[in-house]
Amino acid sequence: MAEPIALDLDVPEAVDPRPILTHPDPRLRLEARPVERFDGTITALADELLEALVRTESIGLAAPQLGESRRVLAIQPTVDASAPRVYVNPRIVERSGLAFVEERCLSLPGIAASVRRSTDVRVEAVDASGAPFEATLGGLDAVCLQHEIDHLDGTLFVDRLLWLQRLALRRRLRALGA
Ligand code: ZN
Repeated sequence: MAEPIALDLDVPEAVDPRPILTHPDPRLRLEARPVERFDGTITALADELLEALVRTESIGLAAPQLGESRRVLAIQPTVDASAPRVYVNPRIVERSGLAFVEERCLSLPGIAASVRRSTDVRVEAVDASGAPFEATLGGLDAVCLQHEIDHLDGTLFVDRLLWLQRLALRRRLRALGA
């Protein structure tokens, strides 16, 4: 009788970071699935998002940008420069104020445009271990959260532009292959 083979599946491998998907990749257009089971895959995804935030020096990133169609995002607060925070299944429950803020997106390289957003939001979410929390965000952090939640719904900021703004960006969007 053969001996069972001991497989060590926990050996960490040096893996190259996943690339950030860019428009018009169809995976950016999917509606991401809510997280229901909080296991190692979610903490790993959260870590990957946080690592990608630092690597790309950005203030927000959503799982679909890594090709993971789950409702998970990470934000680096700009106001108090505290540690970045992961939001799982985030839901804006209150919003107020309106402003046009210039936005950029790693998935739309070379494109910047002003988008109308709420200036203050209250959000309910859970963390990567499934513990619920609530947060109140203002200014750029609020804008960033709305931008990242859009990614979870398959929406890109250029979808929110006025017709004239889109016309002005038409050539650049085409250059991305759209
Ligand atoms: Zn984006």
